[in-house]
Amino acid sequence: MKFNQYEYQRPDMEQVEVNYTNSIAAVQSATSSEEAIEAVKQVQSLQKSLDTQNQLVGIRHSIDTRDTFYEEESAFWDENSPLIEKWQNEYYQAILTSDYLEAITEYVSKPFIQMAENSMKVFDPKIIPLLQTENKLSTEYSKLLASAAIEYKGETYNLSGLAAFQQSIDRDERKAVTQLSSNFFSDNLDELDRIYDELVKTRNQIALELGFKDFIEVGYLRMNRLDYNREDVEVYRQEVLKHVVPLSEEIFKRQAKRIGIEDLKYYDLNLEYVDGNAKPIGTPEEIVQSGVKMYHELSPETGEFIDFMVEKELLDLVTKPGKQGGGYCTYIPDYKSPYIFSNFNGTSGDVDVLTHEAGHAFQVYQSRWIETPEVIWPTFESCEIHSMSMEFIAWPWMELFFGDQTDKYKYSHLASGVTFLPYGVLVDHFQHEVYEKPNMTPEERRQTWRKLEKMYNPWKDYDGDTYFENGGFWMKQGHIFASPFYYIDYTLAQVCAFQFWKRTQIDQDETAWEDYLNICRLGGTQSFLQIVETANLKSPFEEGSLTAVIETIREYLNGISDEALQTK
Ligand SMILES: [Zn+2]
Repeated sequence: MKFNQYEYQRPDMEQVEVNYTNSIAAVQSATSSEEAIEAVKQVQSLQKSLDTQNQLVGIRHSIDTRDTFYEEESAFWDENSPLIEKWQNEYYQAILTSDYLEAITEYVSKPFIQMAENSMKVFDPKIIPLLQTENKLSTEYSKLLASAAIEYKGETYNLSGLAAFQQSIDRDERKAVTQLSSNFFSDNLDELDRIYDELVKTRNQIALELGFKDFIEVGYLRMNRLDYNREDVEVYRQEVLKHVVPLSEEIFKRQAKRIGIEDLKYYDLNLEYVDGNAKPIGTPEEIVQSGVKMYHELSPETGEFIDFMVEKELLDLVTKPGKQGGGYCTYIPDYKSPYIFSNFNGTSGDVDVLTHEAGHAFQVYQSRWIETPEVIWPTFESCEIHSMSMEFIAWPWMELFFGDQTDKYKYSHLASGVTFLPYGVLVDHFQHEVYEKPNMTPEERRQTWRKLEKMYNPWKDYDGDTYFENGGFWMKQGHIFASPFYYIDYTLAQVCAFQFWKRTQIDQDETAWEDYLNICRLGGTQSFLQIVETANLKSPFEEGSLTAVIETIREYLNGISDEALQTK
């Protein structure tokens, strides 16, 4: 059966309520562990059927936003998902208070139980008005940014449209457009300050009402940090400062030389090559064909996976009228089908879809045996291990996509992974400071950012731009407003992916693929540090964990000459 034959049927919510209520009651009244697990299974089949319908609507609506049927269905799901969430909470409550908790834990896995406990800890009906305020403020931020209409050379651009010019080979143009973007933020500074100040105070209030010391505790629980804490993260930050910041500085020095500039300014950072970045060759169909060939050669498991995806038409990759922007990978439980959505645009990002998003899809395909929907995917930092590692595991096939620009692609891929780490950690460190001292004034927050920025991103020379010089850069980072403490997850996964890079590309470690496959199969039945251990990786929270891998990356990058980075 192909994707377009997957059947959508709007559920009868009255019947759903009856089913939920009965199954939850069965969990509560079970008189043996078998009965309790049977009742849990009933809820799970209900969950999977609801999620299947919800996913089908989400996917089909994103493929064609003009389709009125799926638009209406989309509104139906928006309206009803809070109800489902309420029943879900009742279900978690029933499990946590069950006499057969131990047997159920064995069936659903320990991370499930920890996540259920976390969701209870961070919710209380009395904080509902505060949660609503938090959502409202977050929306105000994204609306404000989306409202940007910036005039440049007679055309009007939004912020991401303008960002395209930041790779211009004309330095004056780079400077001018970066200035325009900074003007947008400084013109809206009072409003941005108000939104963030209210967000911080609201979140602090949420923490206090729930009985926590500060919002950092709530943030960690919301992010389901199941087996590490802020002390661990502090160790990791030090590692990044010690090993990754110096290598990043070297990378930027080399970039300056390559693009022919002596004093690298912040508006030069986006220009890696004067002759442009590596671009994939061929039509979208040819790129997909290369992907199919790659996965067949990589392993029997990836070969079977990509055939499944192609045969069932579970990939929608090319931009077309009415299609939503961006890209994602999701999963349709009743059909045990991953789904990949993207908008190819002729950049190396198209290949990332076939490695990164396909890495996510491959993981969920491998863990489709898991009956508990909550742990089909692992928590966020672990999810990205699979996708970011696949980007590197796929390296031996990059010539299929980039031809004689393969070295350029590989250099950028690895170097940008390195320079991203200090920024990602900076975003996280800043938020710790903010929520530890919720009464800082907006000016104090900006001073704090600038102080930390000088530690983590010492190469940032703002060339006298007062807005950035005064510490305003972070206001561009939506996660700081909408998803507190999320950002570091990408960096944790990146350092794990670097280890897979070293093992597969440098050490020719034959066991690396087996380890990768293992953690894909496990899905979310293990926590982050357990997954790291199962994969035979070093924990980023241990002192010295980055030393060897960063040194190997340095050697590798130095081994690629700048000549090899020229387009031939
Ligand atoms: Zn991802």
